[in-house]
Amino acid sequence: MAYLTLKNINKIYPNGYHAVHDFSMEMEKGEFIVFVGPSGCGKSTTLRMIAGLEDISNGEFLIDGKRANEMGPRERGVAMVFQSYALYPQMTVYDNIAFGLELQGADEEYIDERVRKTAAILGLTDYLDRLPRALSGGQRQRVAIGRAIIRKVGVFLMDEPLSNLDAKQRVTMRSEITQIHRETGATTIYVTHDQTEAMTMADRIVVMKDGYVQQIGTPYELYFKPVNVFVAGFIGEPPMNFIRATVNGGAITVGEKKLDLSHKLGAKVSEYEGKEIIFGFRPESIKLGAADQAYVLDADVELTEMLGDNTNVYIRMGDLQSILKVDPHDTPETDTNIEFSVPYENVYLFDAVTEKVIE
Ligand code: ADP
Repeated sequence: MAYLTLKNINKIYPNGYHAVHDFSMEMEKGEFIVFVGPSGCGKSTTLRMIAGLEDISNGEFLIDGKRANEMGPRERGVAMVFQSYALYPQMTVYDNIAFGLELQGADEEYIDERVRKTAAILGLTDYLDRLPRALSGGQRQRVAIGRAIIRKVGVFLMDEPLSNLDAKQRVTMRSEITQIHRETGATTIYVTHDQTEAMTMADRIVVMKDGYVQQIGTPYELYFKPVNVFVAGFIGEPPMNFIRATVNGGAITVGEKKLDLSHKLGAKVSEYEGKEIIFGFRPESIKLGAADQAYVLDADVELTEMLGDNTNVYIRMGDLQSILKVDPHDTPETDTNIEFSVPYENVYLFDAVTEKVIE
């Protein structure tokens, strides 16, 4: 049985704003779930309803098969780490971590054992006597996480916990949080607007937009089988290229080239005759030069960015602009014309009206 069940969860704020629409999902014990989407899409609201910090307007939330809508935060057995981690400045790391258990009236020996175990997991053993001001940003964030994981809870909730750290610290903390998750085994729900965090940390990702779940899947599924234009464009960096074009004679025209869509659509191509379609391909899924079983295109190189492990090539095809990602040794000259190919299997076609992928 699923550990957490969300059945058609809705949030309508007192001012009438409908922030979350029919969120349904089952989460298994021990899973690492990431909610991702642009700011304002309802991630925190959903997390706060799971935490018991916000009422559920409609729908049902179950923990281990039991209805939890009316349970208080403590009763739910959840711990939460927020974006801004307010540590007590006058207390040592030890006392900051111990605080929650002390409030609960746990005995000294047990608290000491848990603080030391938690500090060991977080690599804070040598810092237990320090005050927060004598720690780096990353260490402070670890103390904040320690305060949450010291209690043995079934569910661990994190709302953008890395947003106050610099880029390098974020990368380090990302793998540390994954490691902590492995060691504690707690079901974890992690909120972020950063697709890289989602892709690198999650067992499964929930992509949200405007209060609606767009797709739930593993990082692999979201990257290779996006259900719509939004997910396809949100996952991956640089994002997928999209070309809008009208189907004419079973083909679309991109720059100088005619691309025969029957290679992708078979007999279904006639359904789209005269209609607009969205042709999508990822910058990294192309090959320079011509190839078989691929759409071959021509483009003018406008700008290149050599990043070390790859080069981003900004191209123009007629009035369309796209980005290609190539090996840095193959970086083309700007203002030249290049040929590249997109294997049929790497092309995604979307209905221009519904923006859903055409299977
Ligand atoms: P996210 O975490 O994805 O950035 P939120 O869940 O914080 O998004 O917010 C979702 C939407 O709900 C936003 O449009 C936000 O302005 C709105 N919202 C959040 N809190 C309240 C509130 N207390 N009253 C009314 N609207 C709110």
